[in-house]
Amino acid sequence: MSILSIENLSKSYGRIQALKGVSFIVPKGTVFGILGPNGSGKTTMLGIIMDILRPSGGSYKLFDEIPDETLRRKIGTFLETPNFYHYLSAQKNLEIAAALKERGHDDIPRVLELVNLTQRKDSRFSTYSLGMKQRLAIASCLLGDPEVLILDEPTNGLDPVGIAEIRQLIKQLHQQGKTIIMASHLLDEVEKVCTHVAILKKGELVATGDVNEILANEDIVEISAANIPQLEIVLNALQGYSNLKVQGKMIQLFYPVGTADVETINRHCFSNGIVLNHLQLKKKSLEAKFFELTN
Ligand code: ATP
Repeated sequence: MSILSIENLSKSYGRIQALKGVSFIVPKGTVFGILGPNGSGKTTMLGIIMDILRPSGGSYKLFDEIPDETLRRKIGTFLETPNFYHYLSAQKNLEIAAALKERGHDDIPRVLELVNLTQRKDSRFSTYSLGMKQRLAIASCLLGDPEVLILDEPTNGLDPVGIAEIRQLIKQLHQQGKTIIMASHLLDEVEKVCTHVAILKKGELVATGDVNEILANEDIVEISAANIPQLEIVLNALQGYSNLKVQGKMIQLFYPVGTADVETINRHCFSNGIVLNHLQLKKKSLEAKFFELTN
């Protein structure tokens, strides 16, 4: 079953085309990252899915069905930093959020525990760090135990500790079987936490699928030796790679996936009088792939 399937979705704001016929599927049980530079249409996409914006064309399904209010209640959303009452405690703020969602208070202790705020539940919201505020926002999304969470930039403005806390929380929710759809700019973060991605550029989809499959279309071998110019000459005589890049004190060789053989490289260098001090087969980082795709 797919959680969300988007079919040829488009959205114009007057002359600005924010989405241009985007289609992709979010499988159940994934952490699905929607990536793209500023203005690529991520927030517009999430706004349409949550019924805040109307699409100009195309359609989407939730849980393989035409979306309605009952299906939307299975989704917890965090579309922008929520407006909690600063002078009220986390507990009181969640009671208000629960009332707005027409849910009881029974679930509040569970969600506070999940986001690790039980100890501070009676402190005023105004005394919370930004990380705690974001975690409270996620707690609010979790009221009623929705199957799916949609988070727009959940780590926005957080320091590394706050980012790591949200990452842990997302991983934990994923392990519990939730599907998480998140828009983010932080590629390194997305790579650490997401299983699948859709990459948008100026309203168009440029790639989608399993993160490992998207990244695994190229092998990169990093090589270093004391004499880089000499190493480059020797590597120029080697066959099989598609590209060679000198990056400071390192040379990178790019191979079609699955074809790089570090032993052959090592033997070739050694037999040509070069002793390597570094030789490593690497996967392309999501960041490198993202820049390649979005130029
Ligand atoms: P960011 O990462 O900066 O939040 P985004 O990827 O979420 O960007 P959107 O906010 O969806 O992108 O914007 C997509 C395009 O639509 C941009 O060109 C933006 O200026 C435009 N846009 C968004 N909202 C409106 C609006 N209400 N009126 C006019 N244009 C809009």
